[in-house]
Amino acid sequence: MRRSIGVVATGHLWAGIVDGTELGSVKTYPDLGQPHVDLKGVPASEILSILRGQIRALAEEGPIESVGAGFPGVIRNGVILESPNLGQLKGLHVADDLRAGLKADGIDVPVCAINDADALAAGIAATHETMDSLVRVWYLGDGIGYGRYPHNDGVWEAGHMVVSLDPKERFCGCGGTGHLEGIMGHRAMRLRFLDMEPEEVFAAARHGDQRAGDFQTFWHSALAAATATRIHLDGPGRFYIAGPNSEFVDVRLVGGYLHEMVKMSPLQGSYFQIIPTGHDMALIGAAVASRSK
Ligand SMILES: [Zn+2]
Repeated sequence: MRRSIGVVATGHLWAGIVDGTELGSVKTYPDLGQPHVDLKGVPASEILSILRGQIRALAEEGPIESVGAGFPGVIRNGVILESPNLGQLKGLHVADDLRAGLKADGIDVPVCAINDADALAAGIAATHETMDSLVRVWYLGDGIGYGRYPHNDGVWEAGHMVVSLDPKERFCGCGGTGHLEGIMGHRAMRLRFLDMEPEEVFAAARHGDQRAGDFQTFWHSALAAATATRIHLDGPGRFYIAGPNSEFVDVRLVGGYLHEMVKMSPLQGSYFQIIPTGHDMALIGAAVASRSK
């Protein structure tokens, strides 16, 4: 059985042993049940040292062949080129630094770094589909991630796709106007509704509040618009939705808007499927992607 360790930085720092495609022991920072720590305030060097400690502890369970690390942002050749929601990671040579640190700890294995949403897509392919199928997934959290498996070379920051031309749409973490994340992202929703948490906005929409209801429509239309653009570039099919804020998604509503936005007959037939948790799939995907073929 092939054993690797996957790590991801989404909300928490997670590290898990993956045997084949089964997730075993998992380490979390901060520990579940401990007060939340905003990773934005944790220096990059400390993030690396926490991950290194988690990997070291997991590797005591037995030999591993590789480590795969999933981080938010644009990642090329093991370097984080940009990470709008964890800005301190910009420029970090994450794969080389982690590999050198682990080697000093006596763990001499290849380390690869990939976008966390691509790790999620690889994890879904490994557990829900086959490694031959096309998997596309939206991750709805603080930011909006878009993952695709198999990985296509390119940038793929689809969470920053422009879905509105309204100059007032300026809540995206990257500073861009009209972005999907500026409408759907958790942080962006809190900036828009200064007096309500996102949970309260969606609850108010269910109880007939006009402003909240209008936003719920807008939120779902934005996801449909971004998906319609993906369909016009990359073809129709299934789109997974994962992450903590997938609980706010009404699949019927977003499917209805999508239907209005995609009219060419060869591009029809797409649909959405919710996968409630994300970190477990992303850990599996990061680990599987790190193995040499
Ligand atoms: Zn943006």
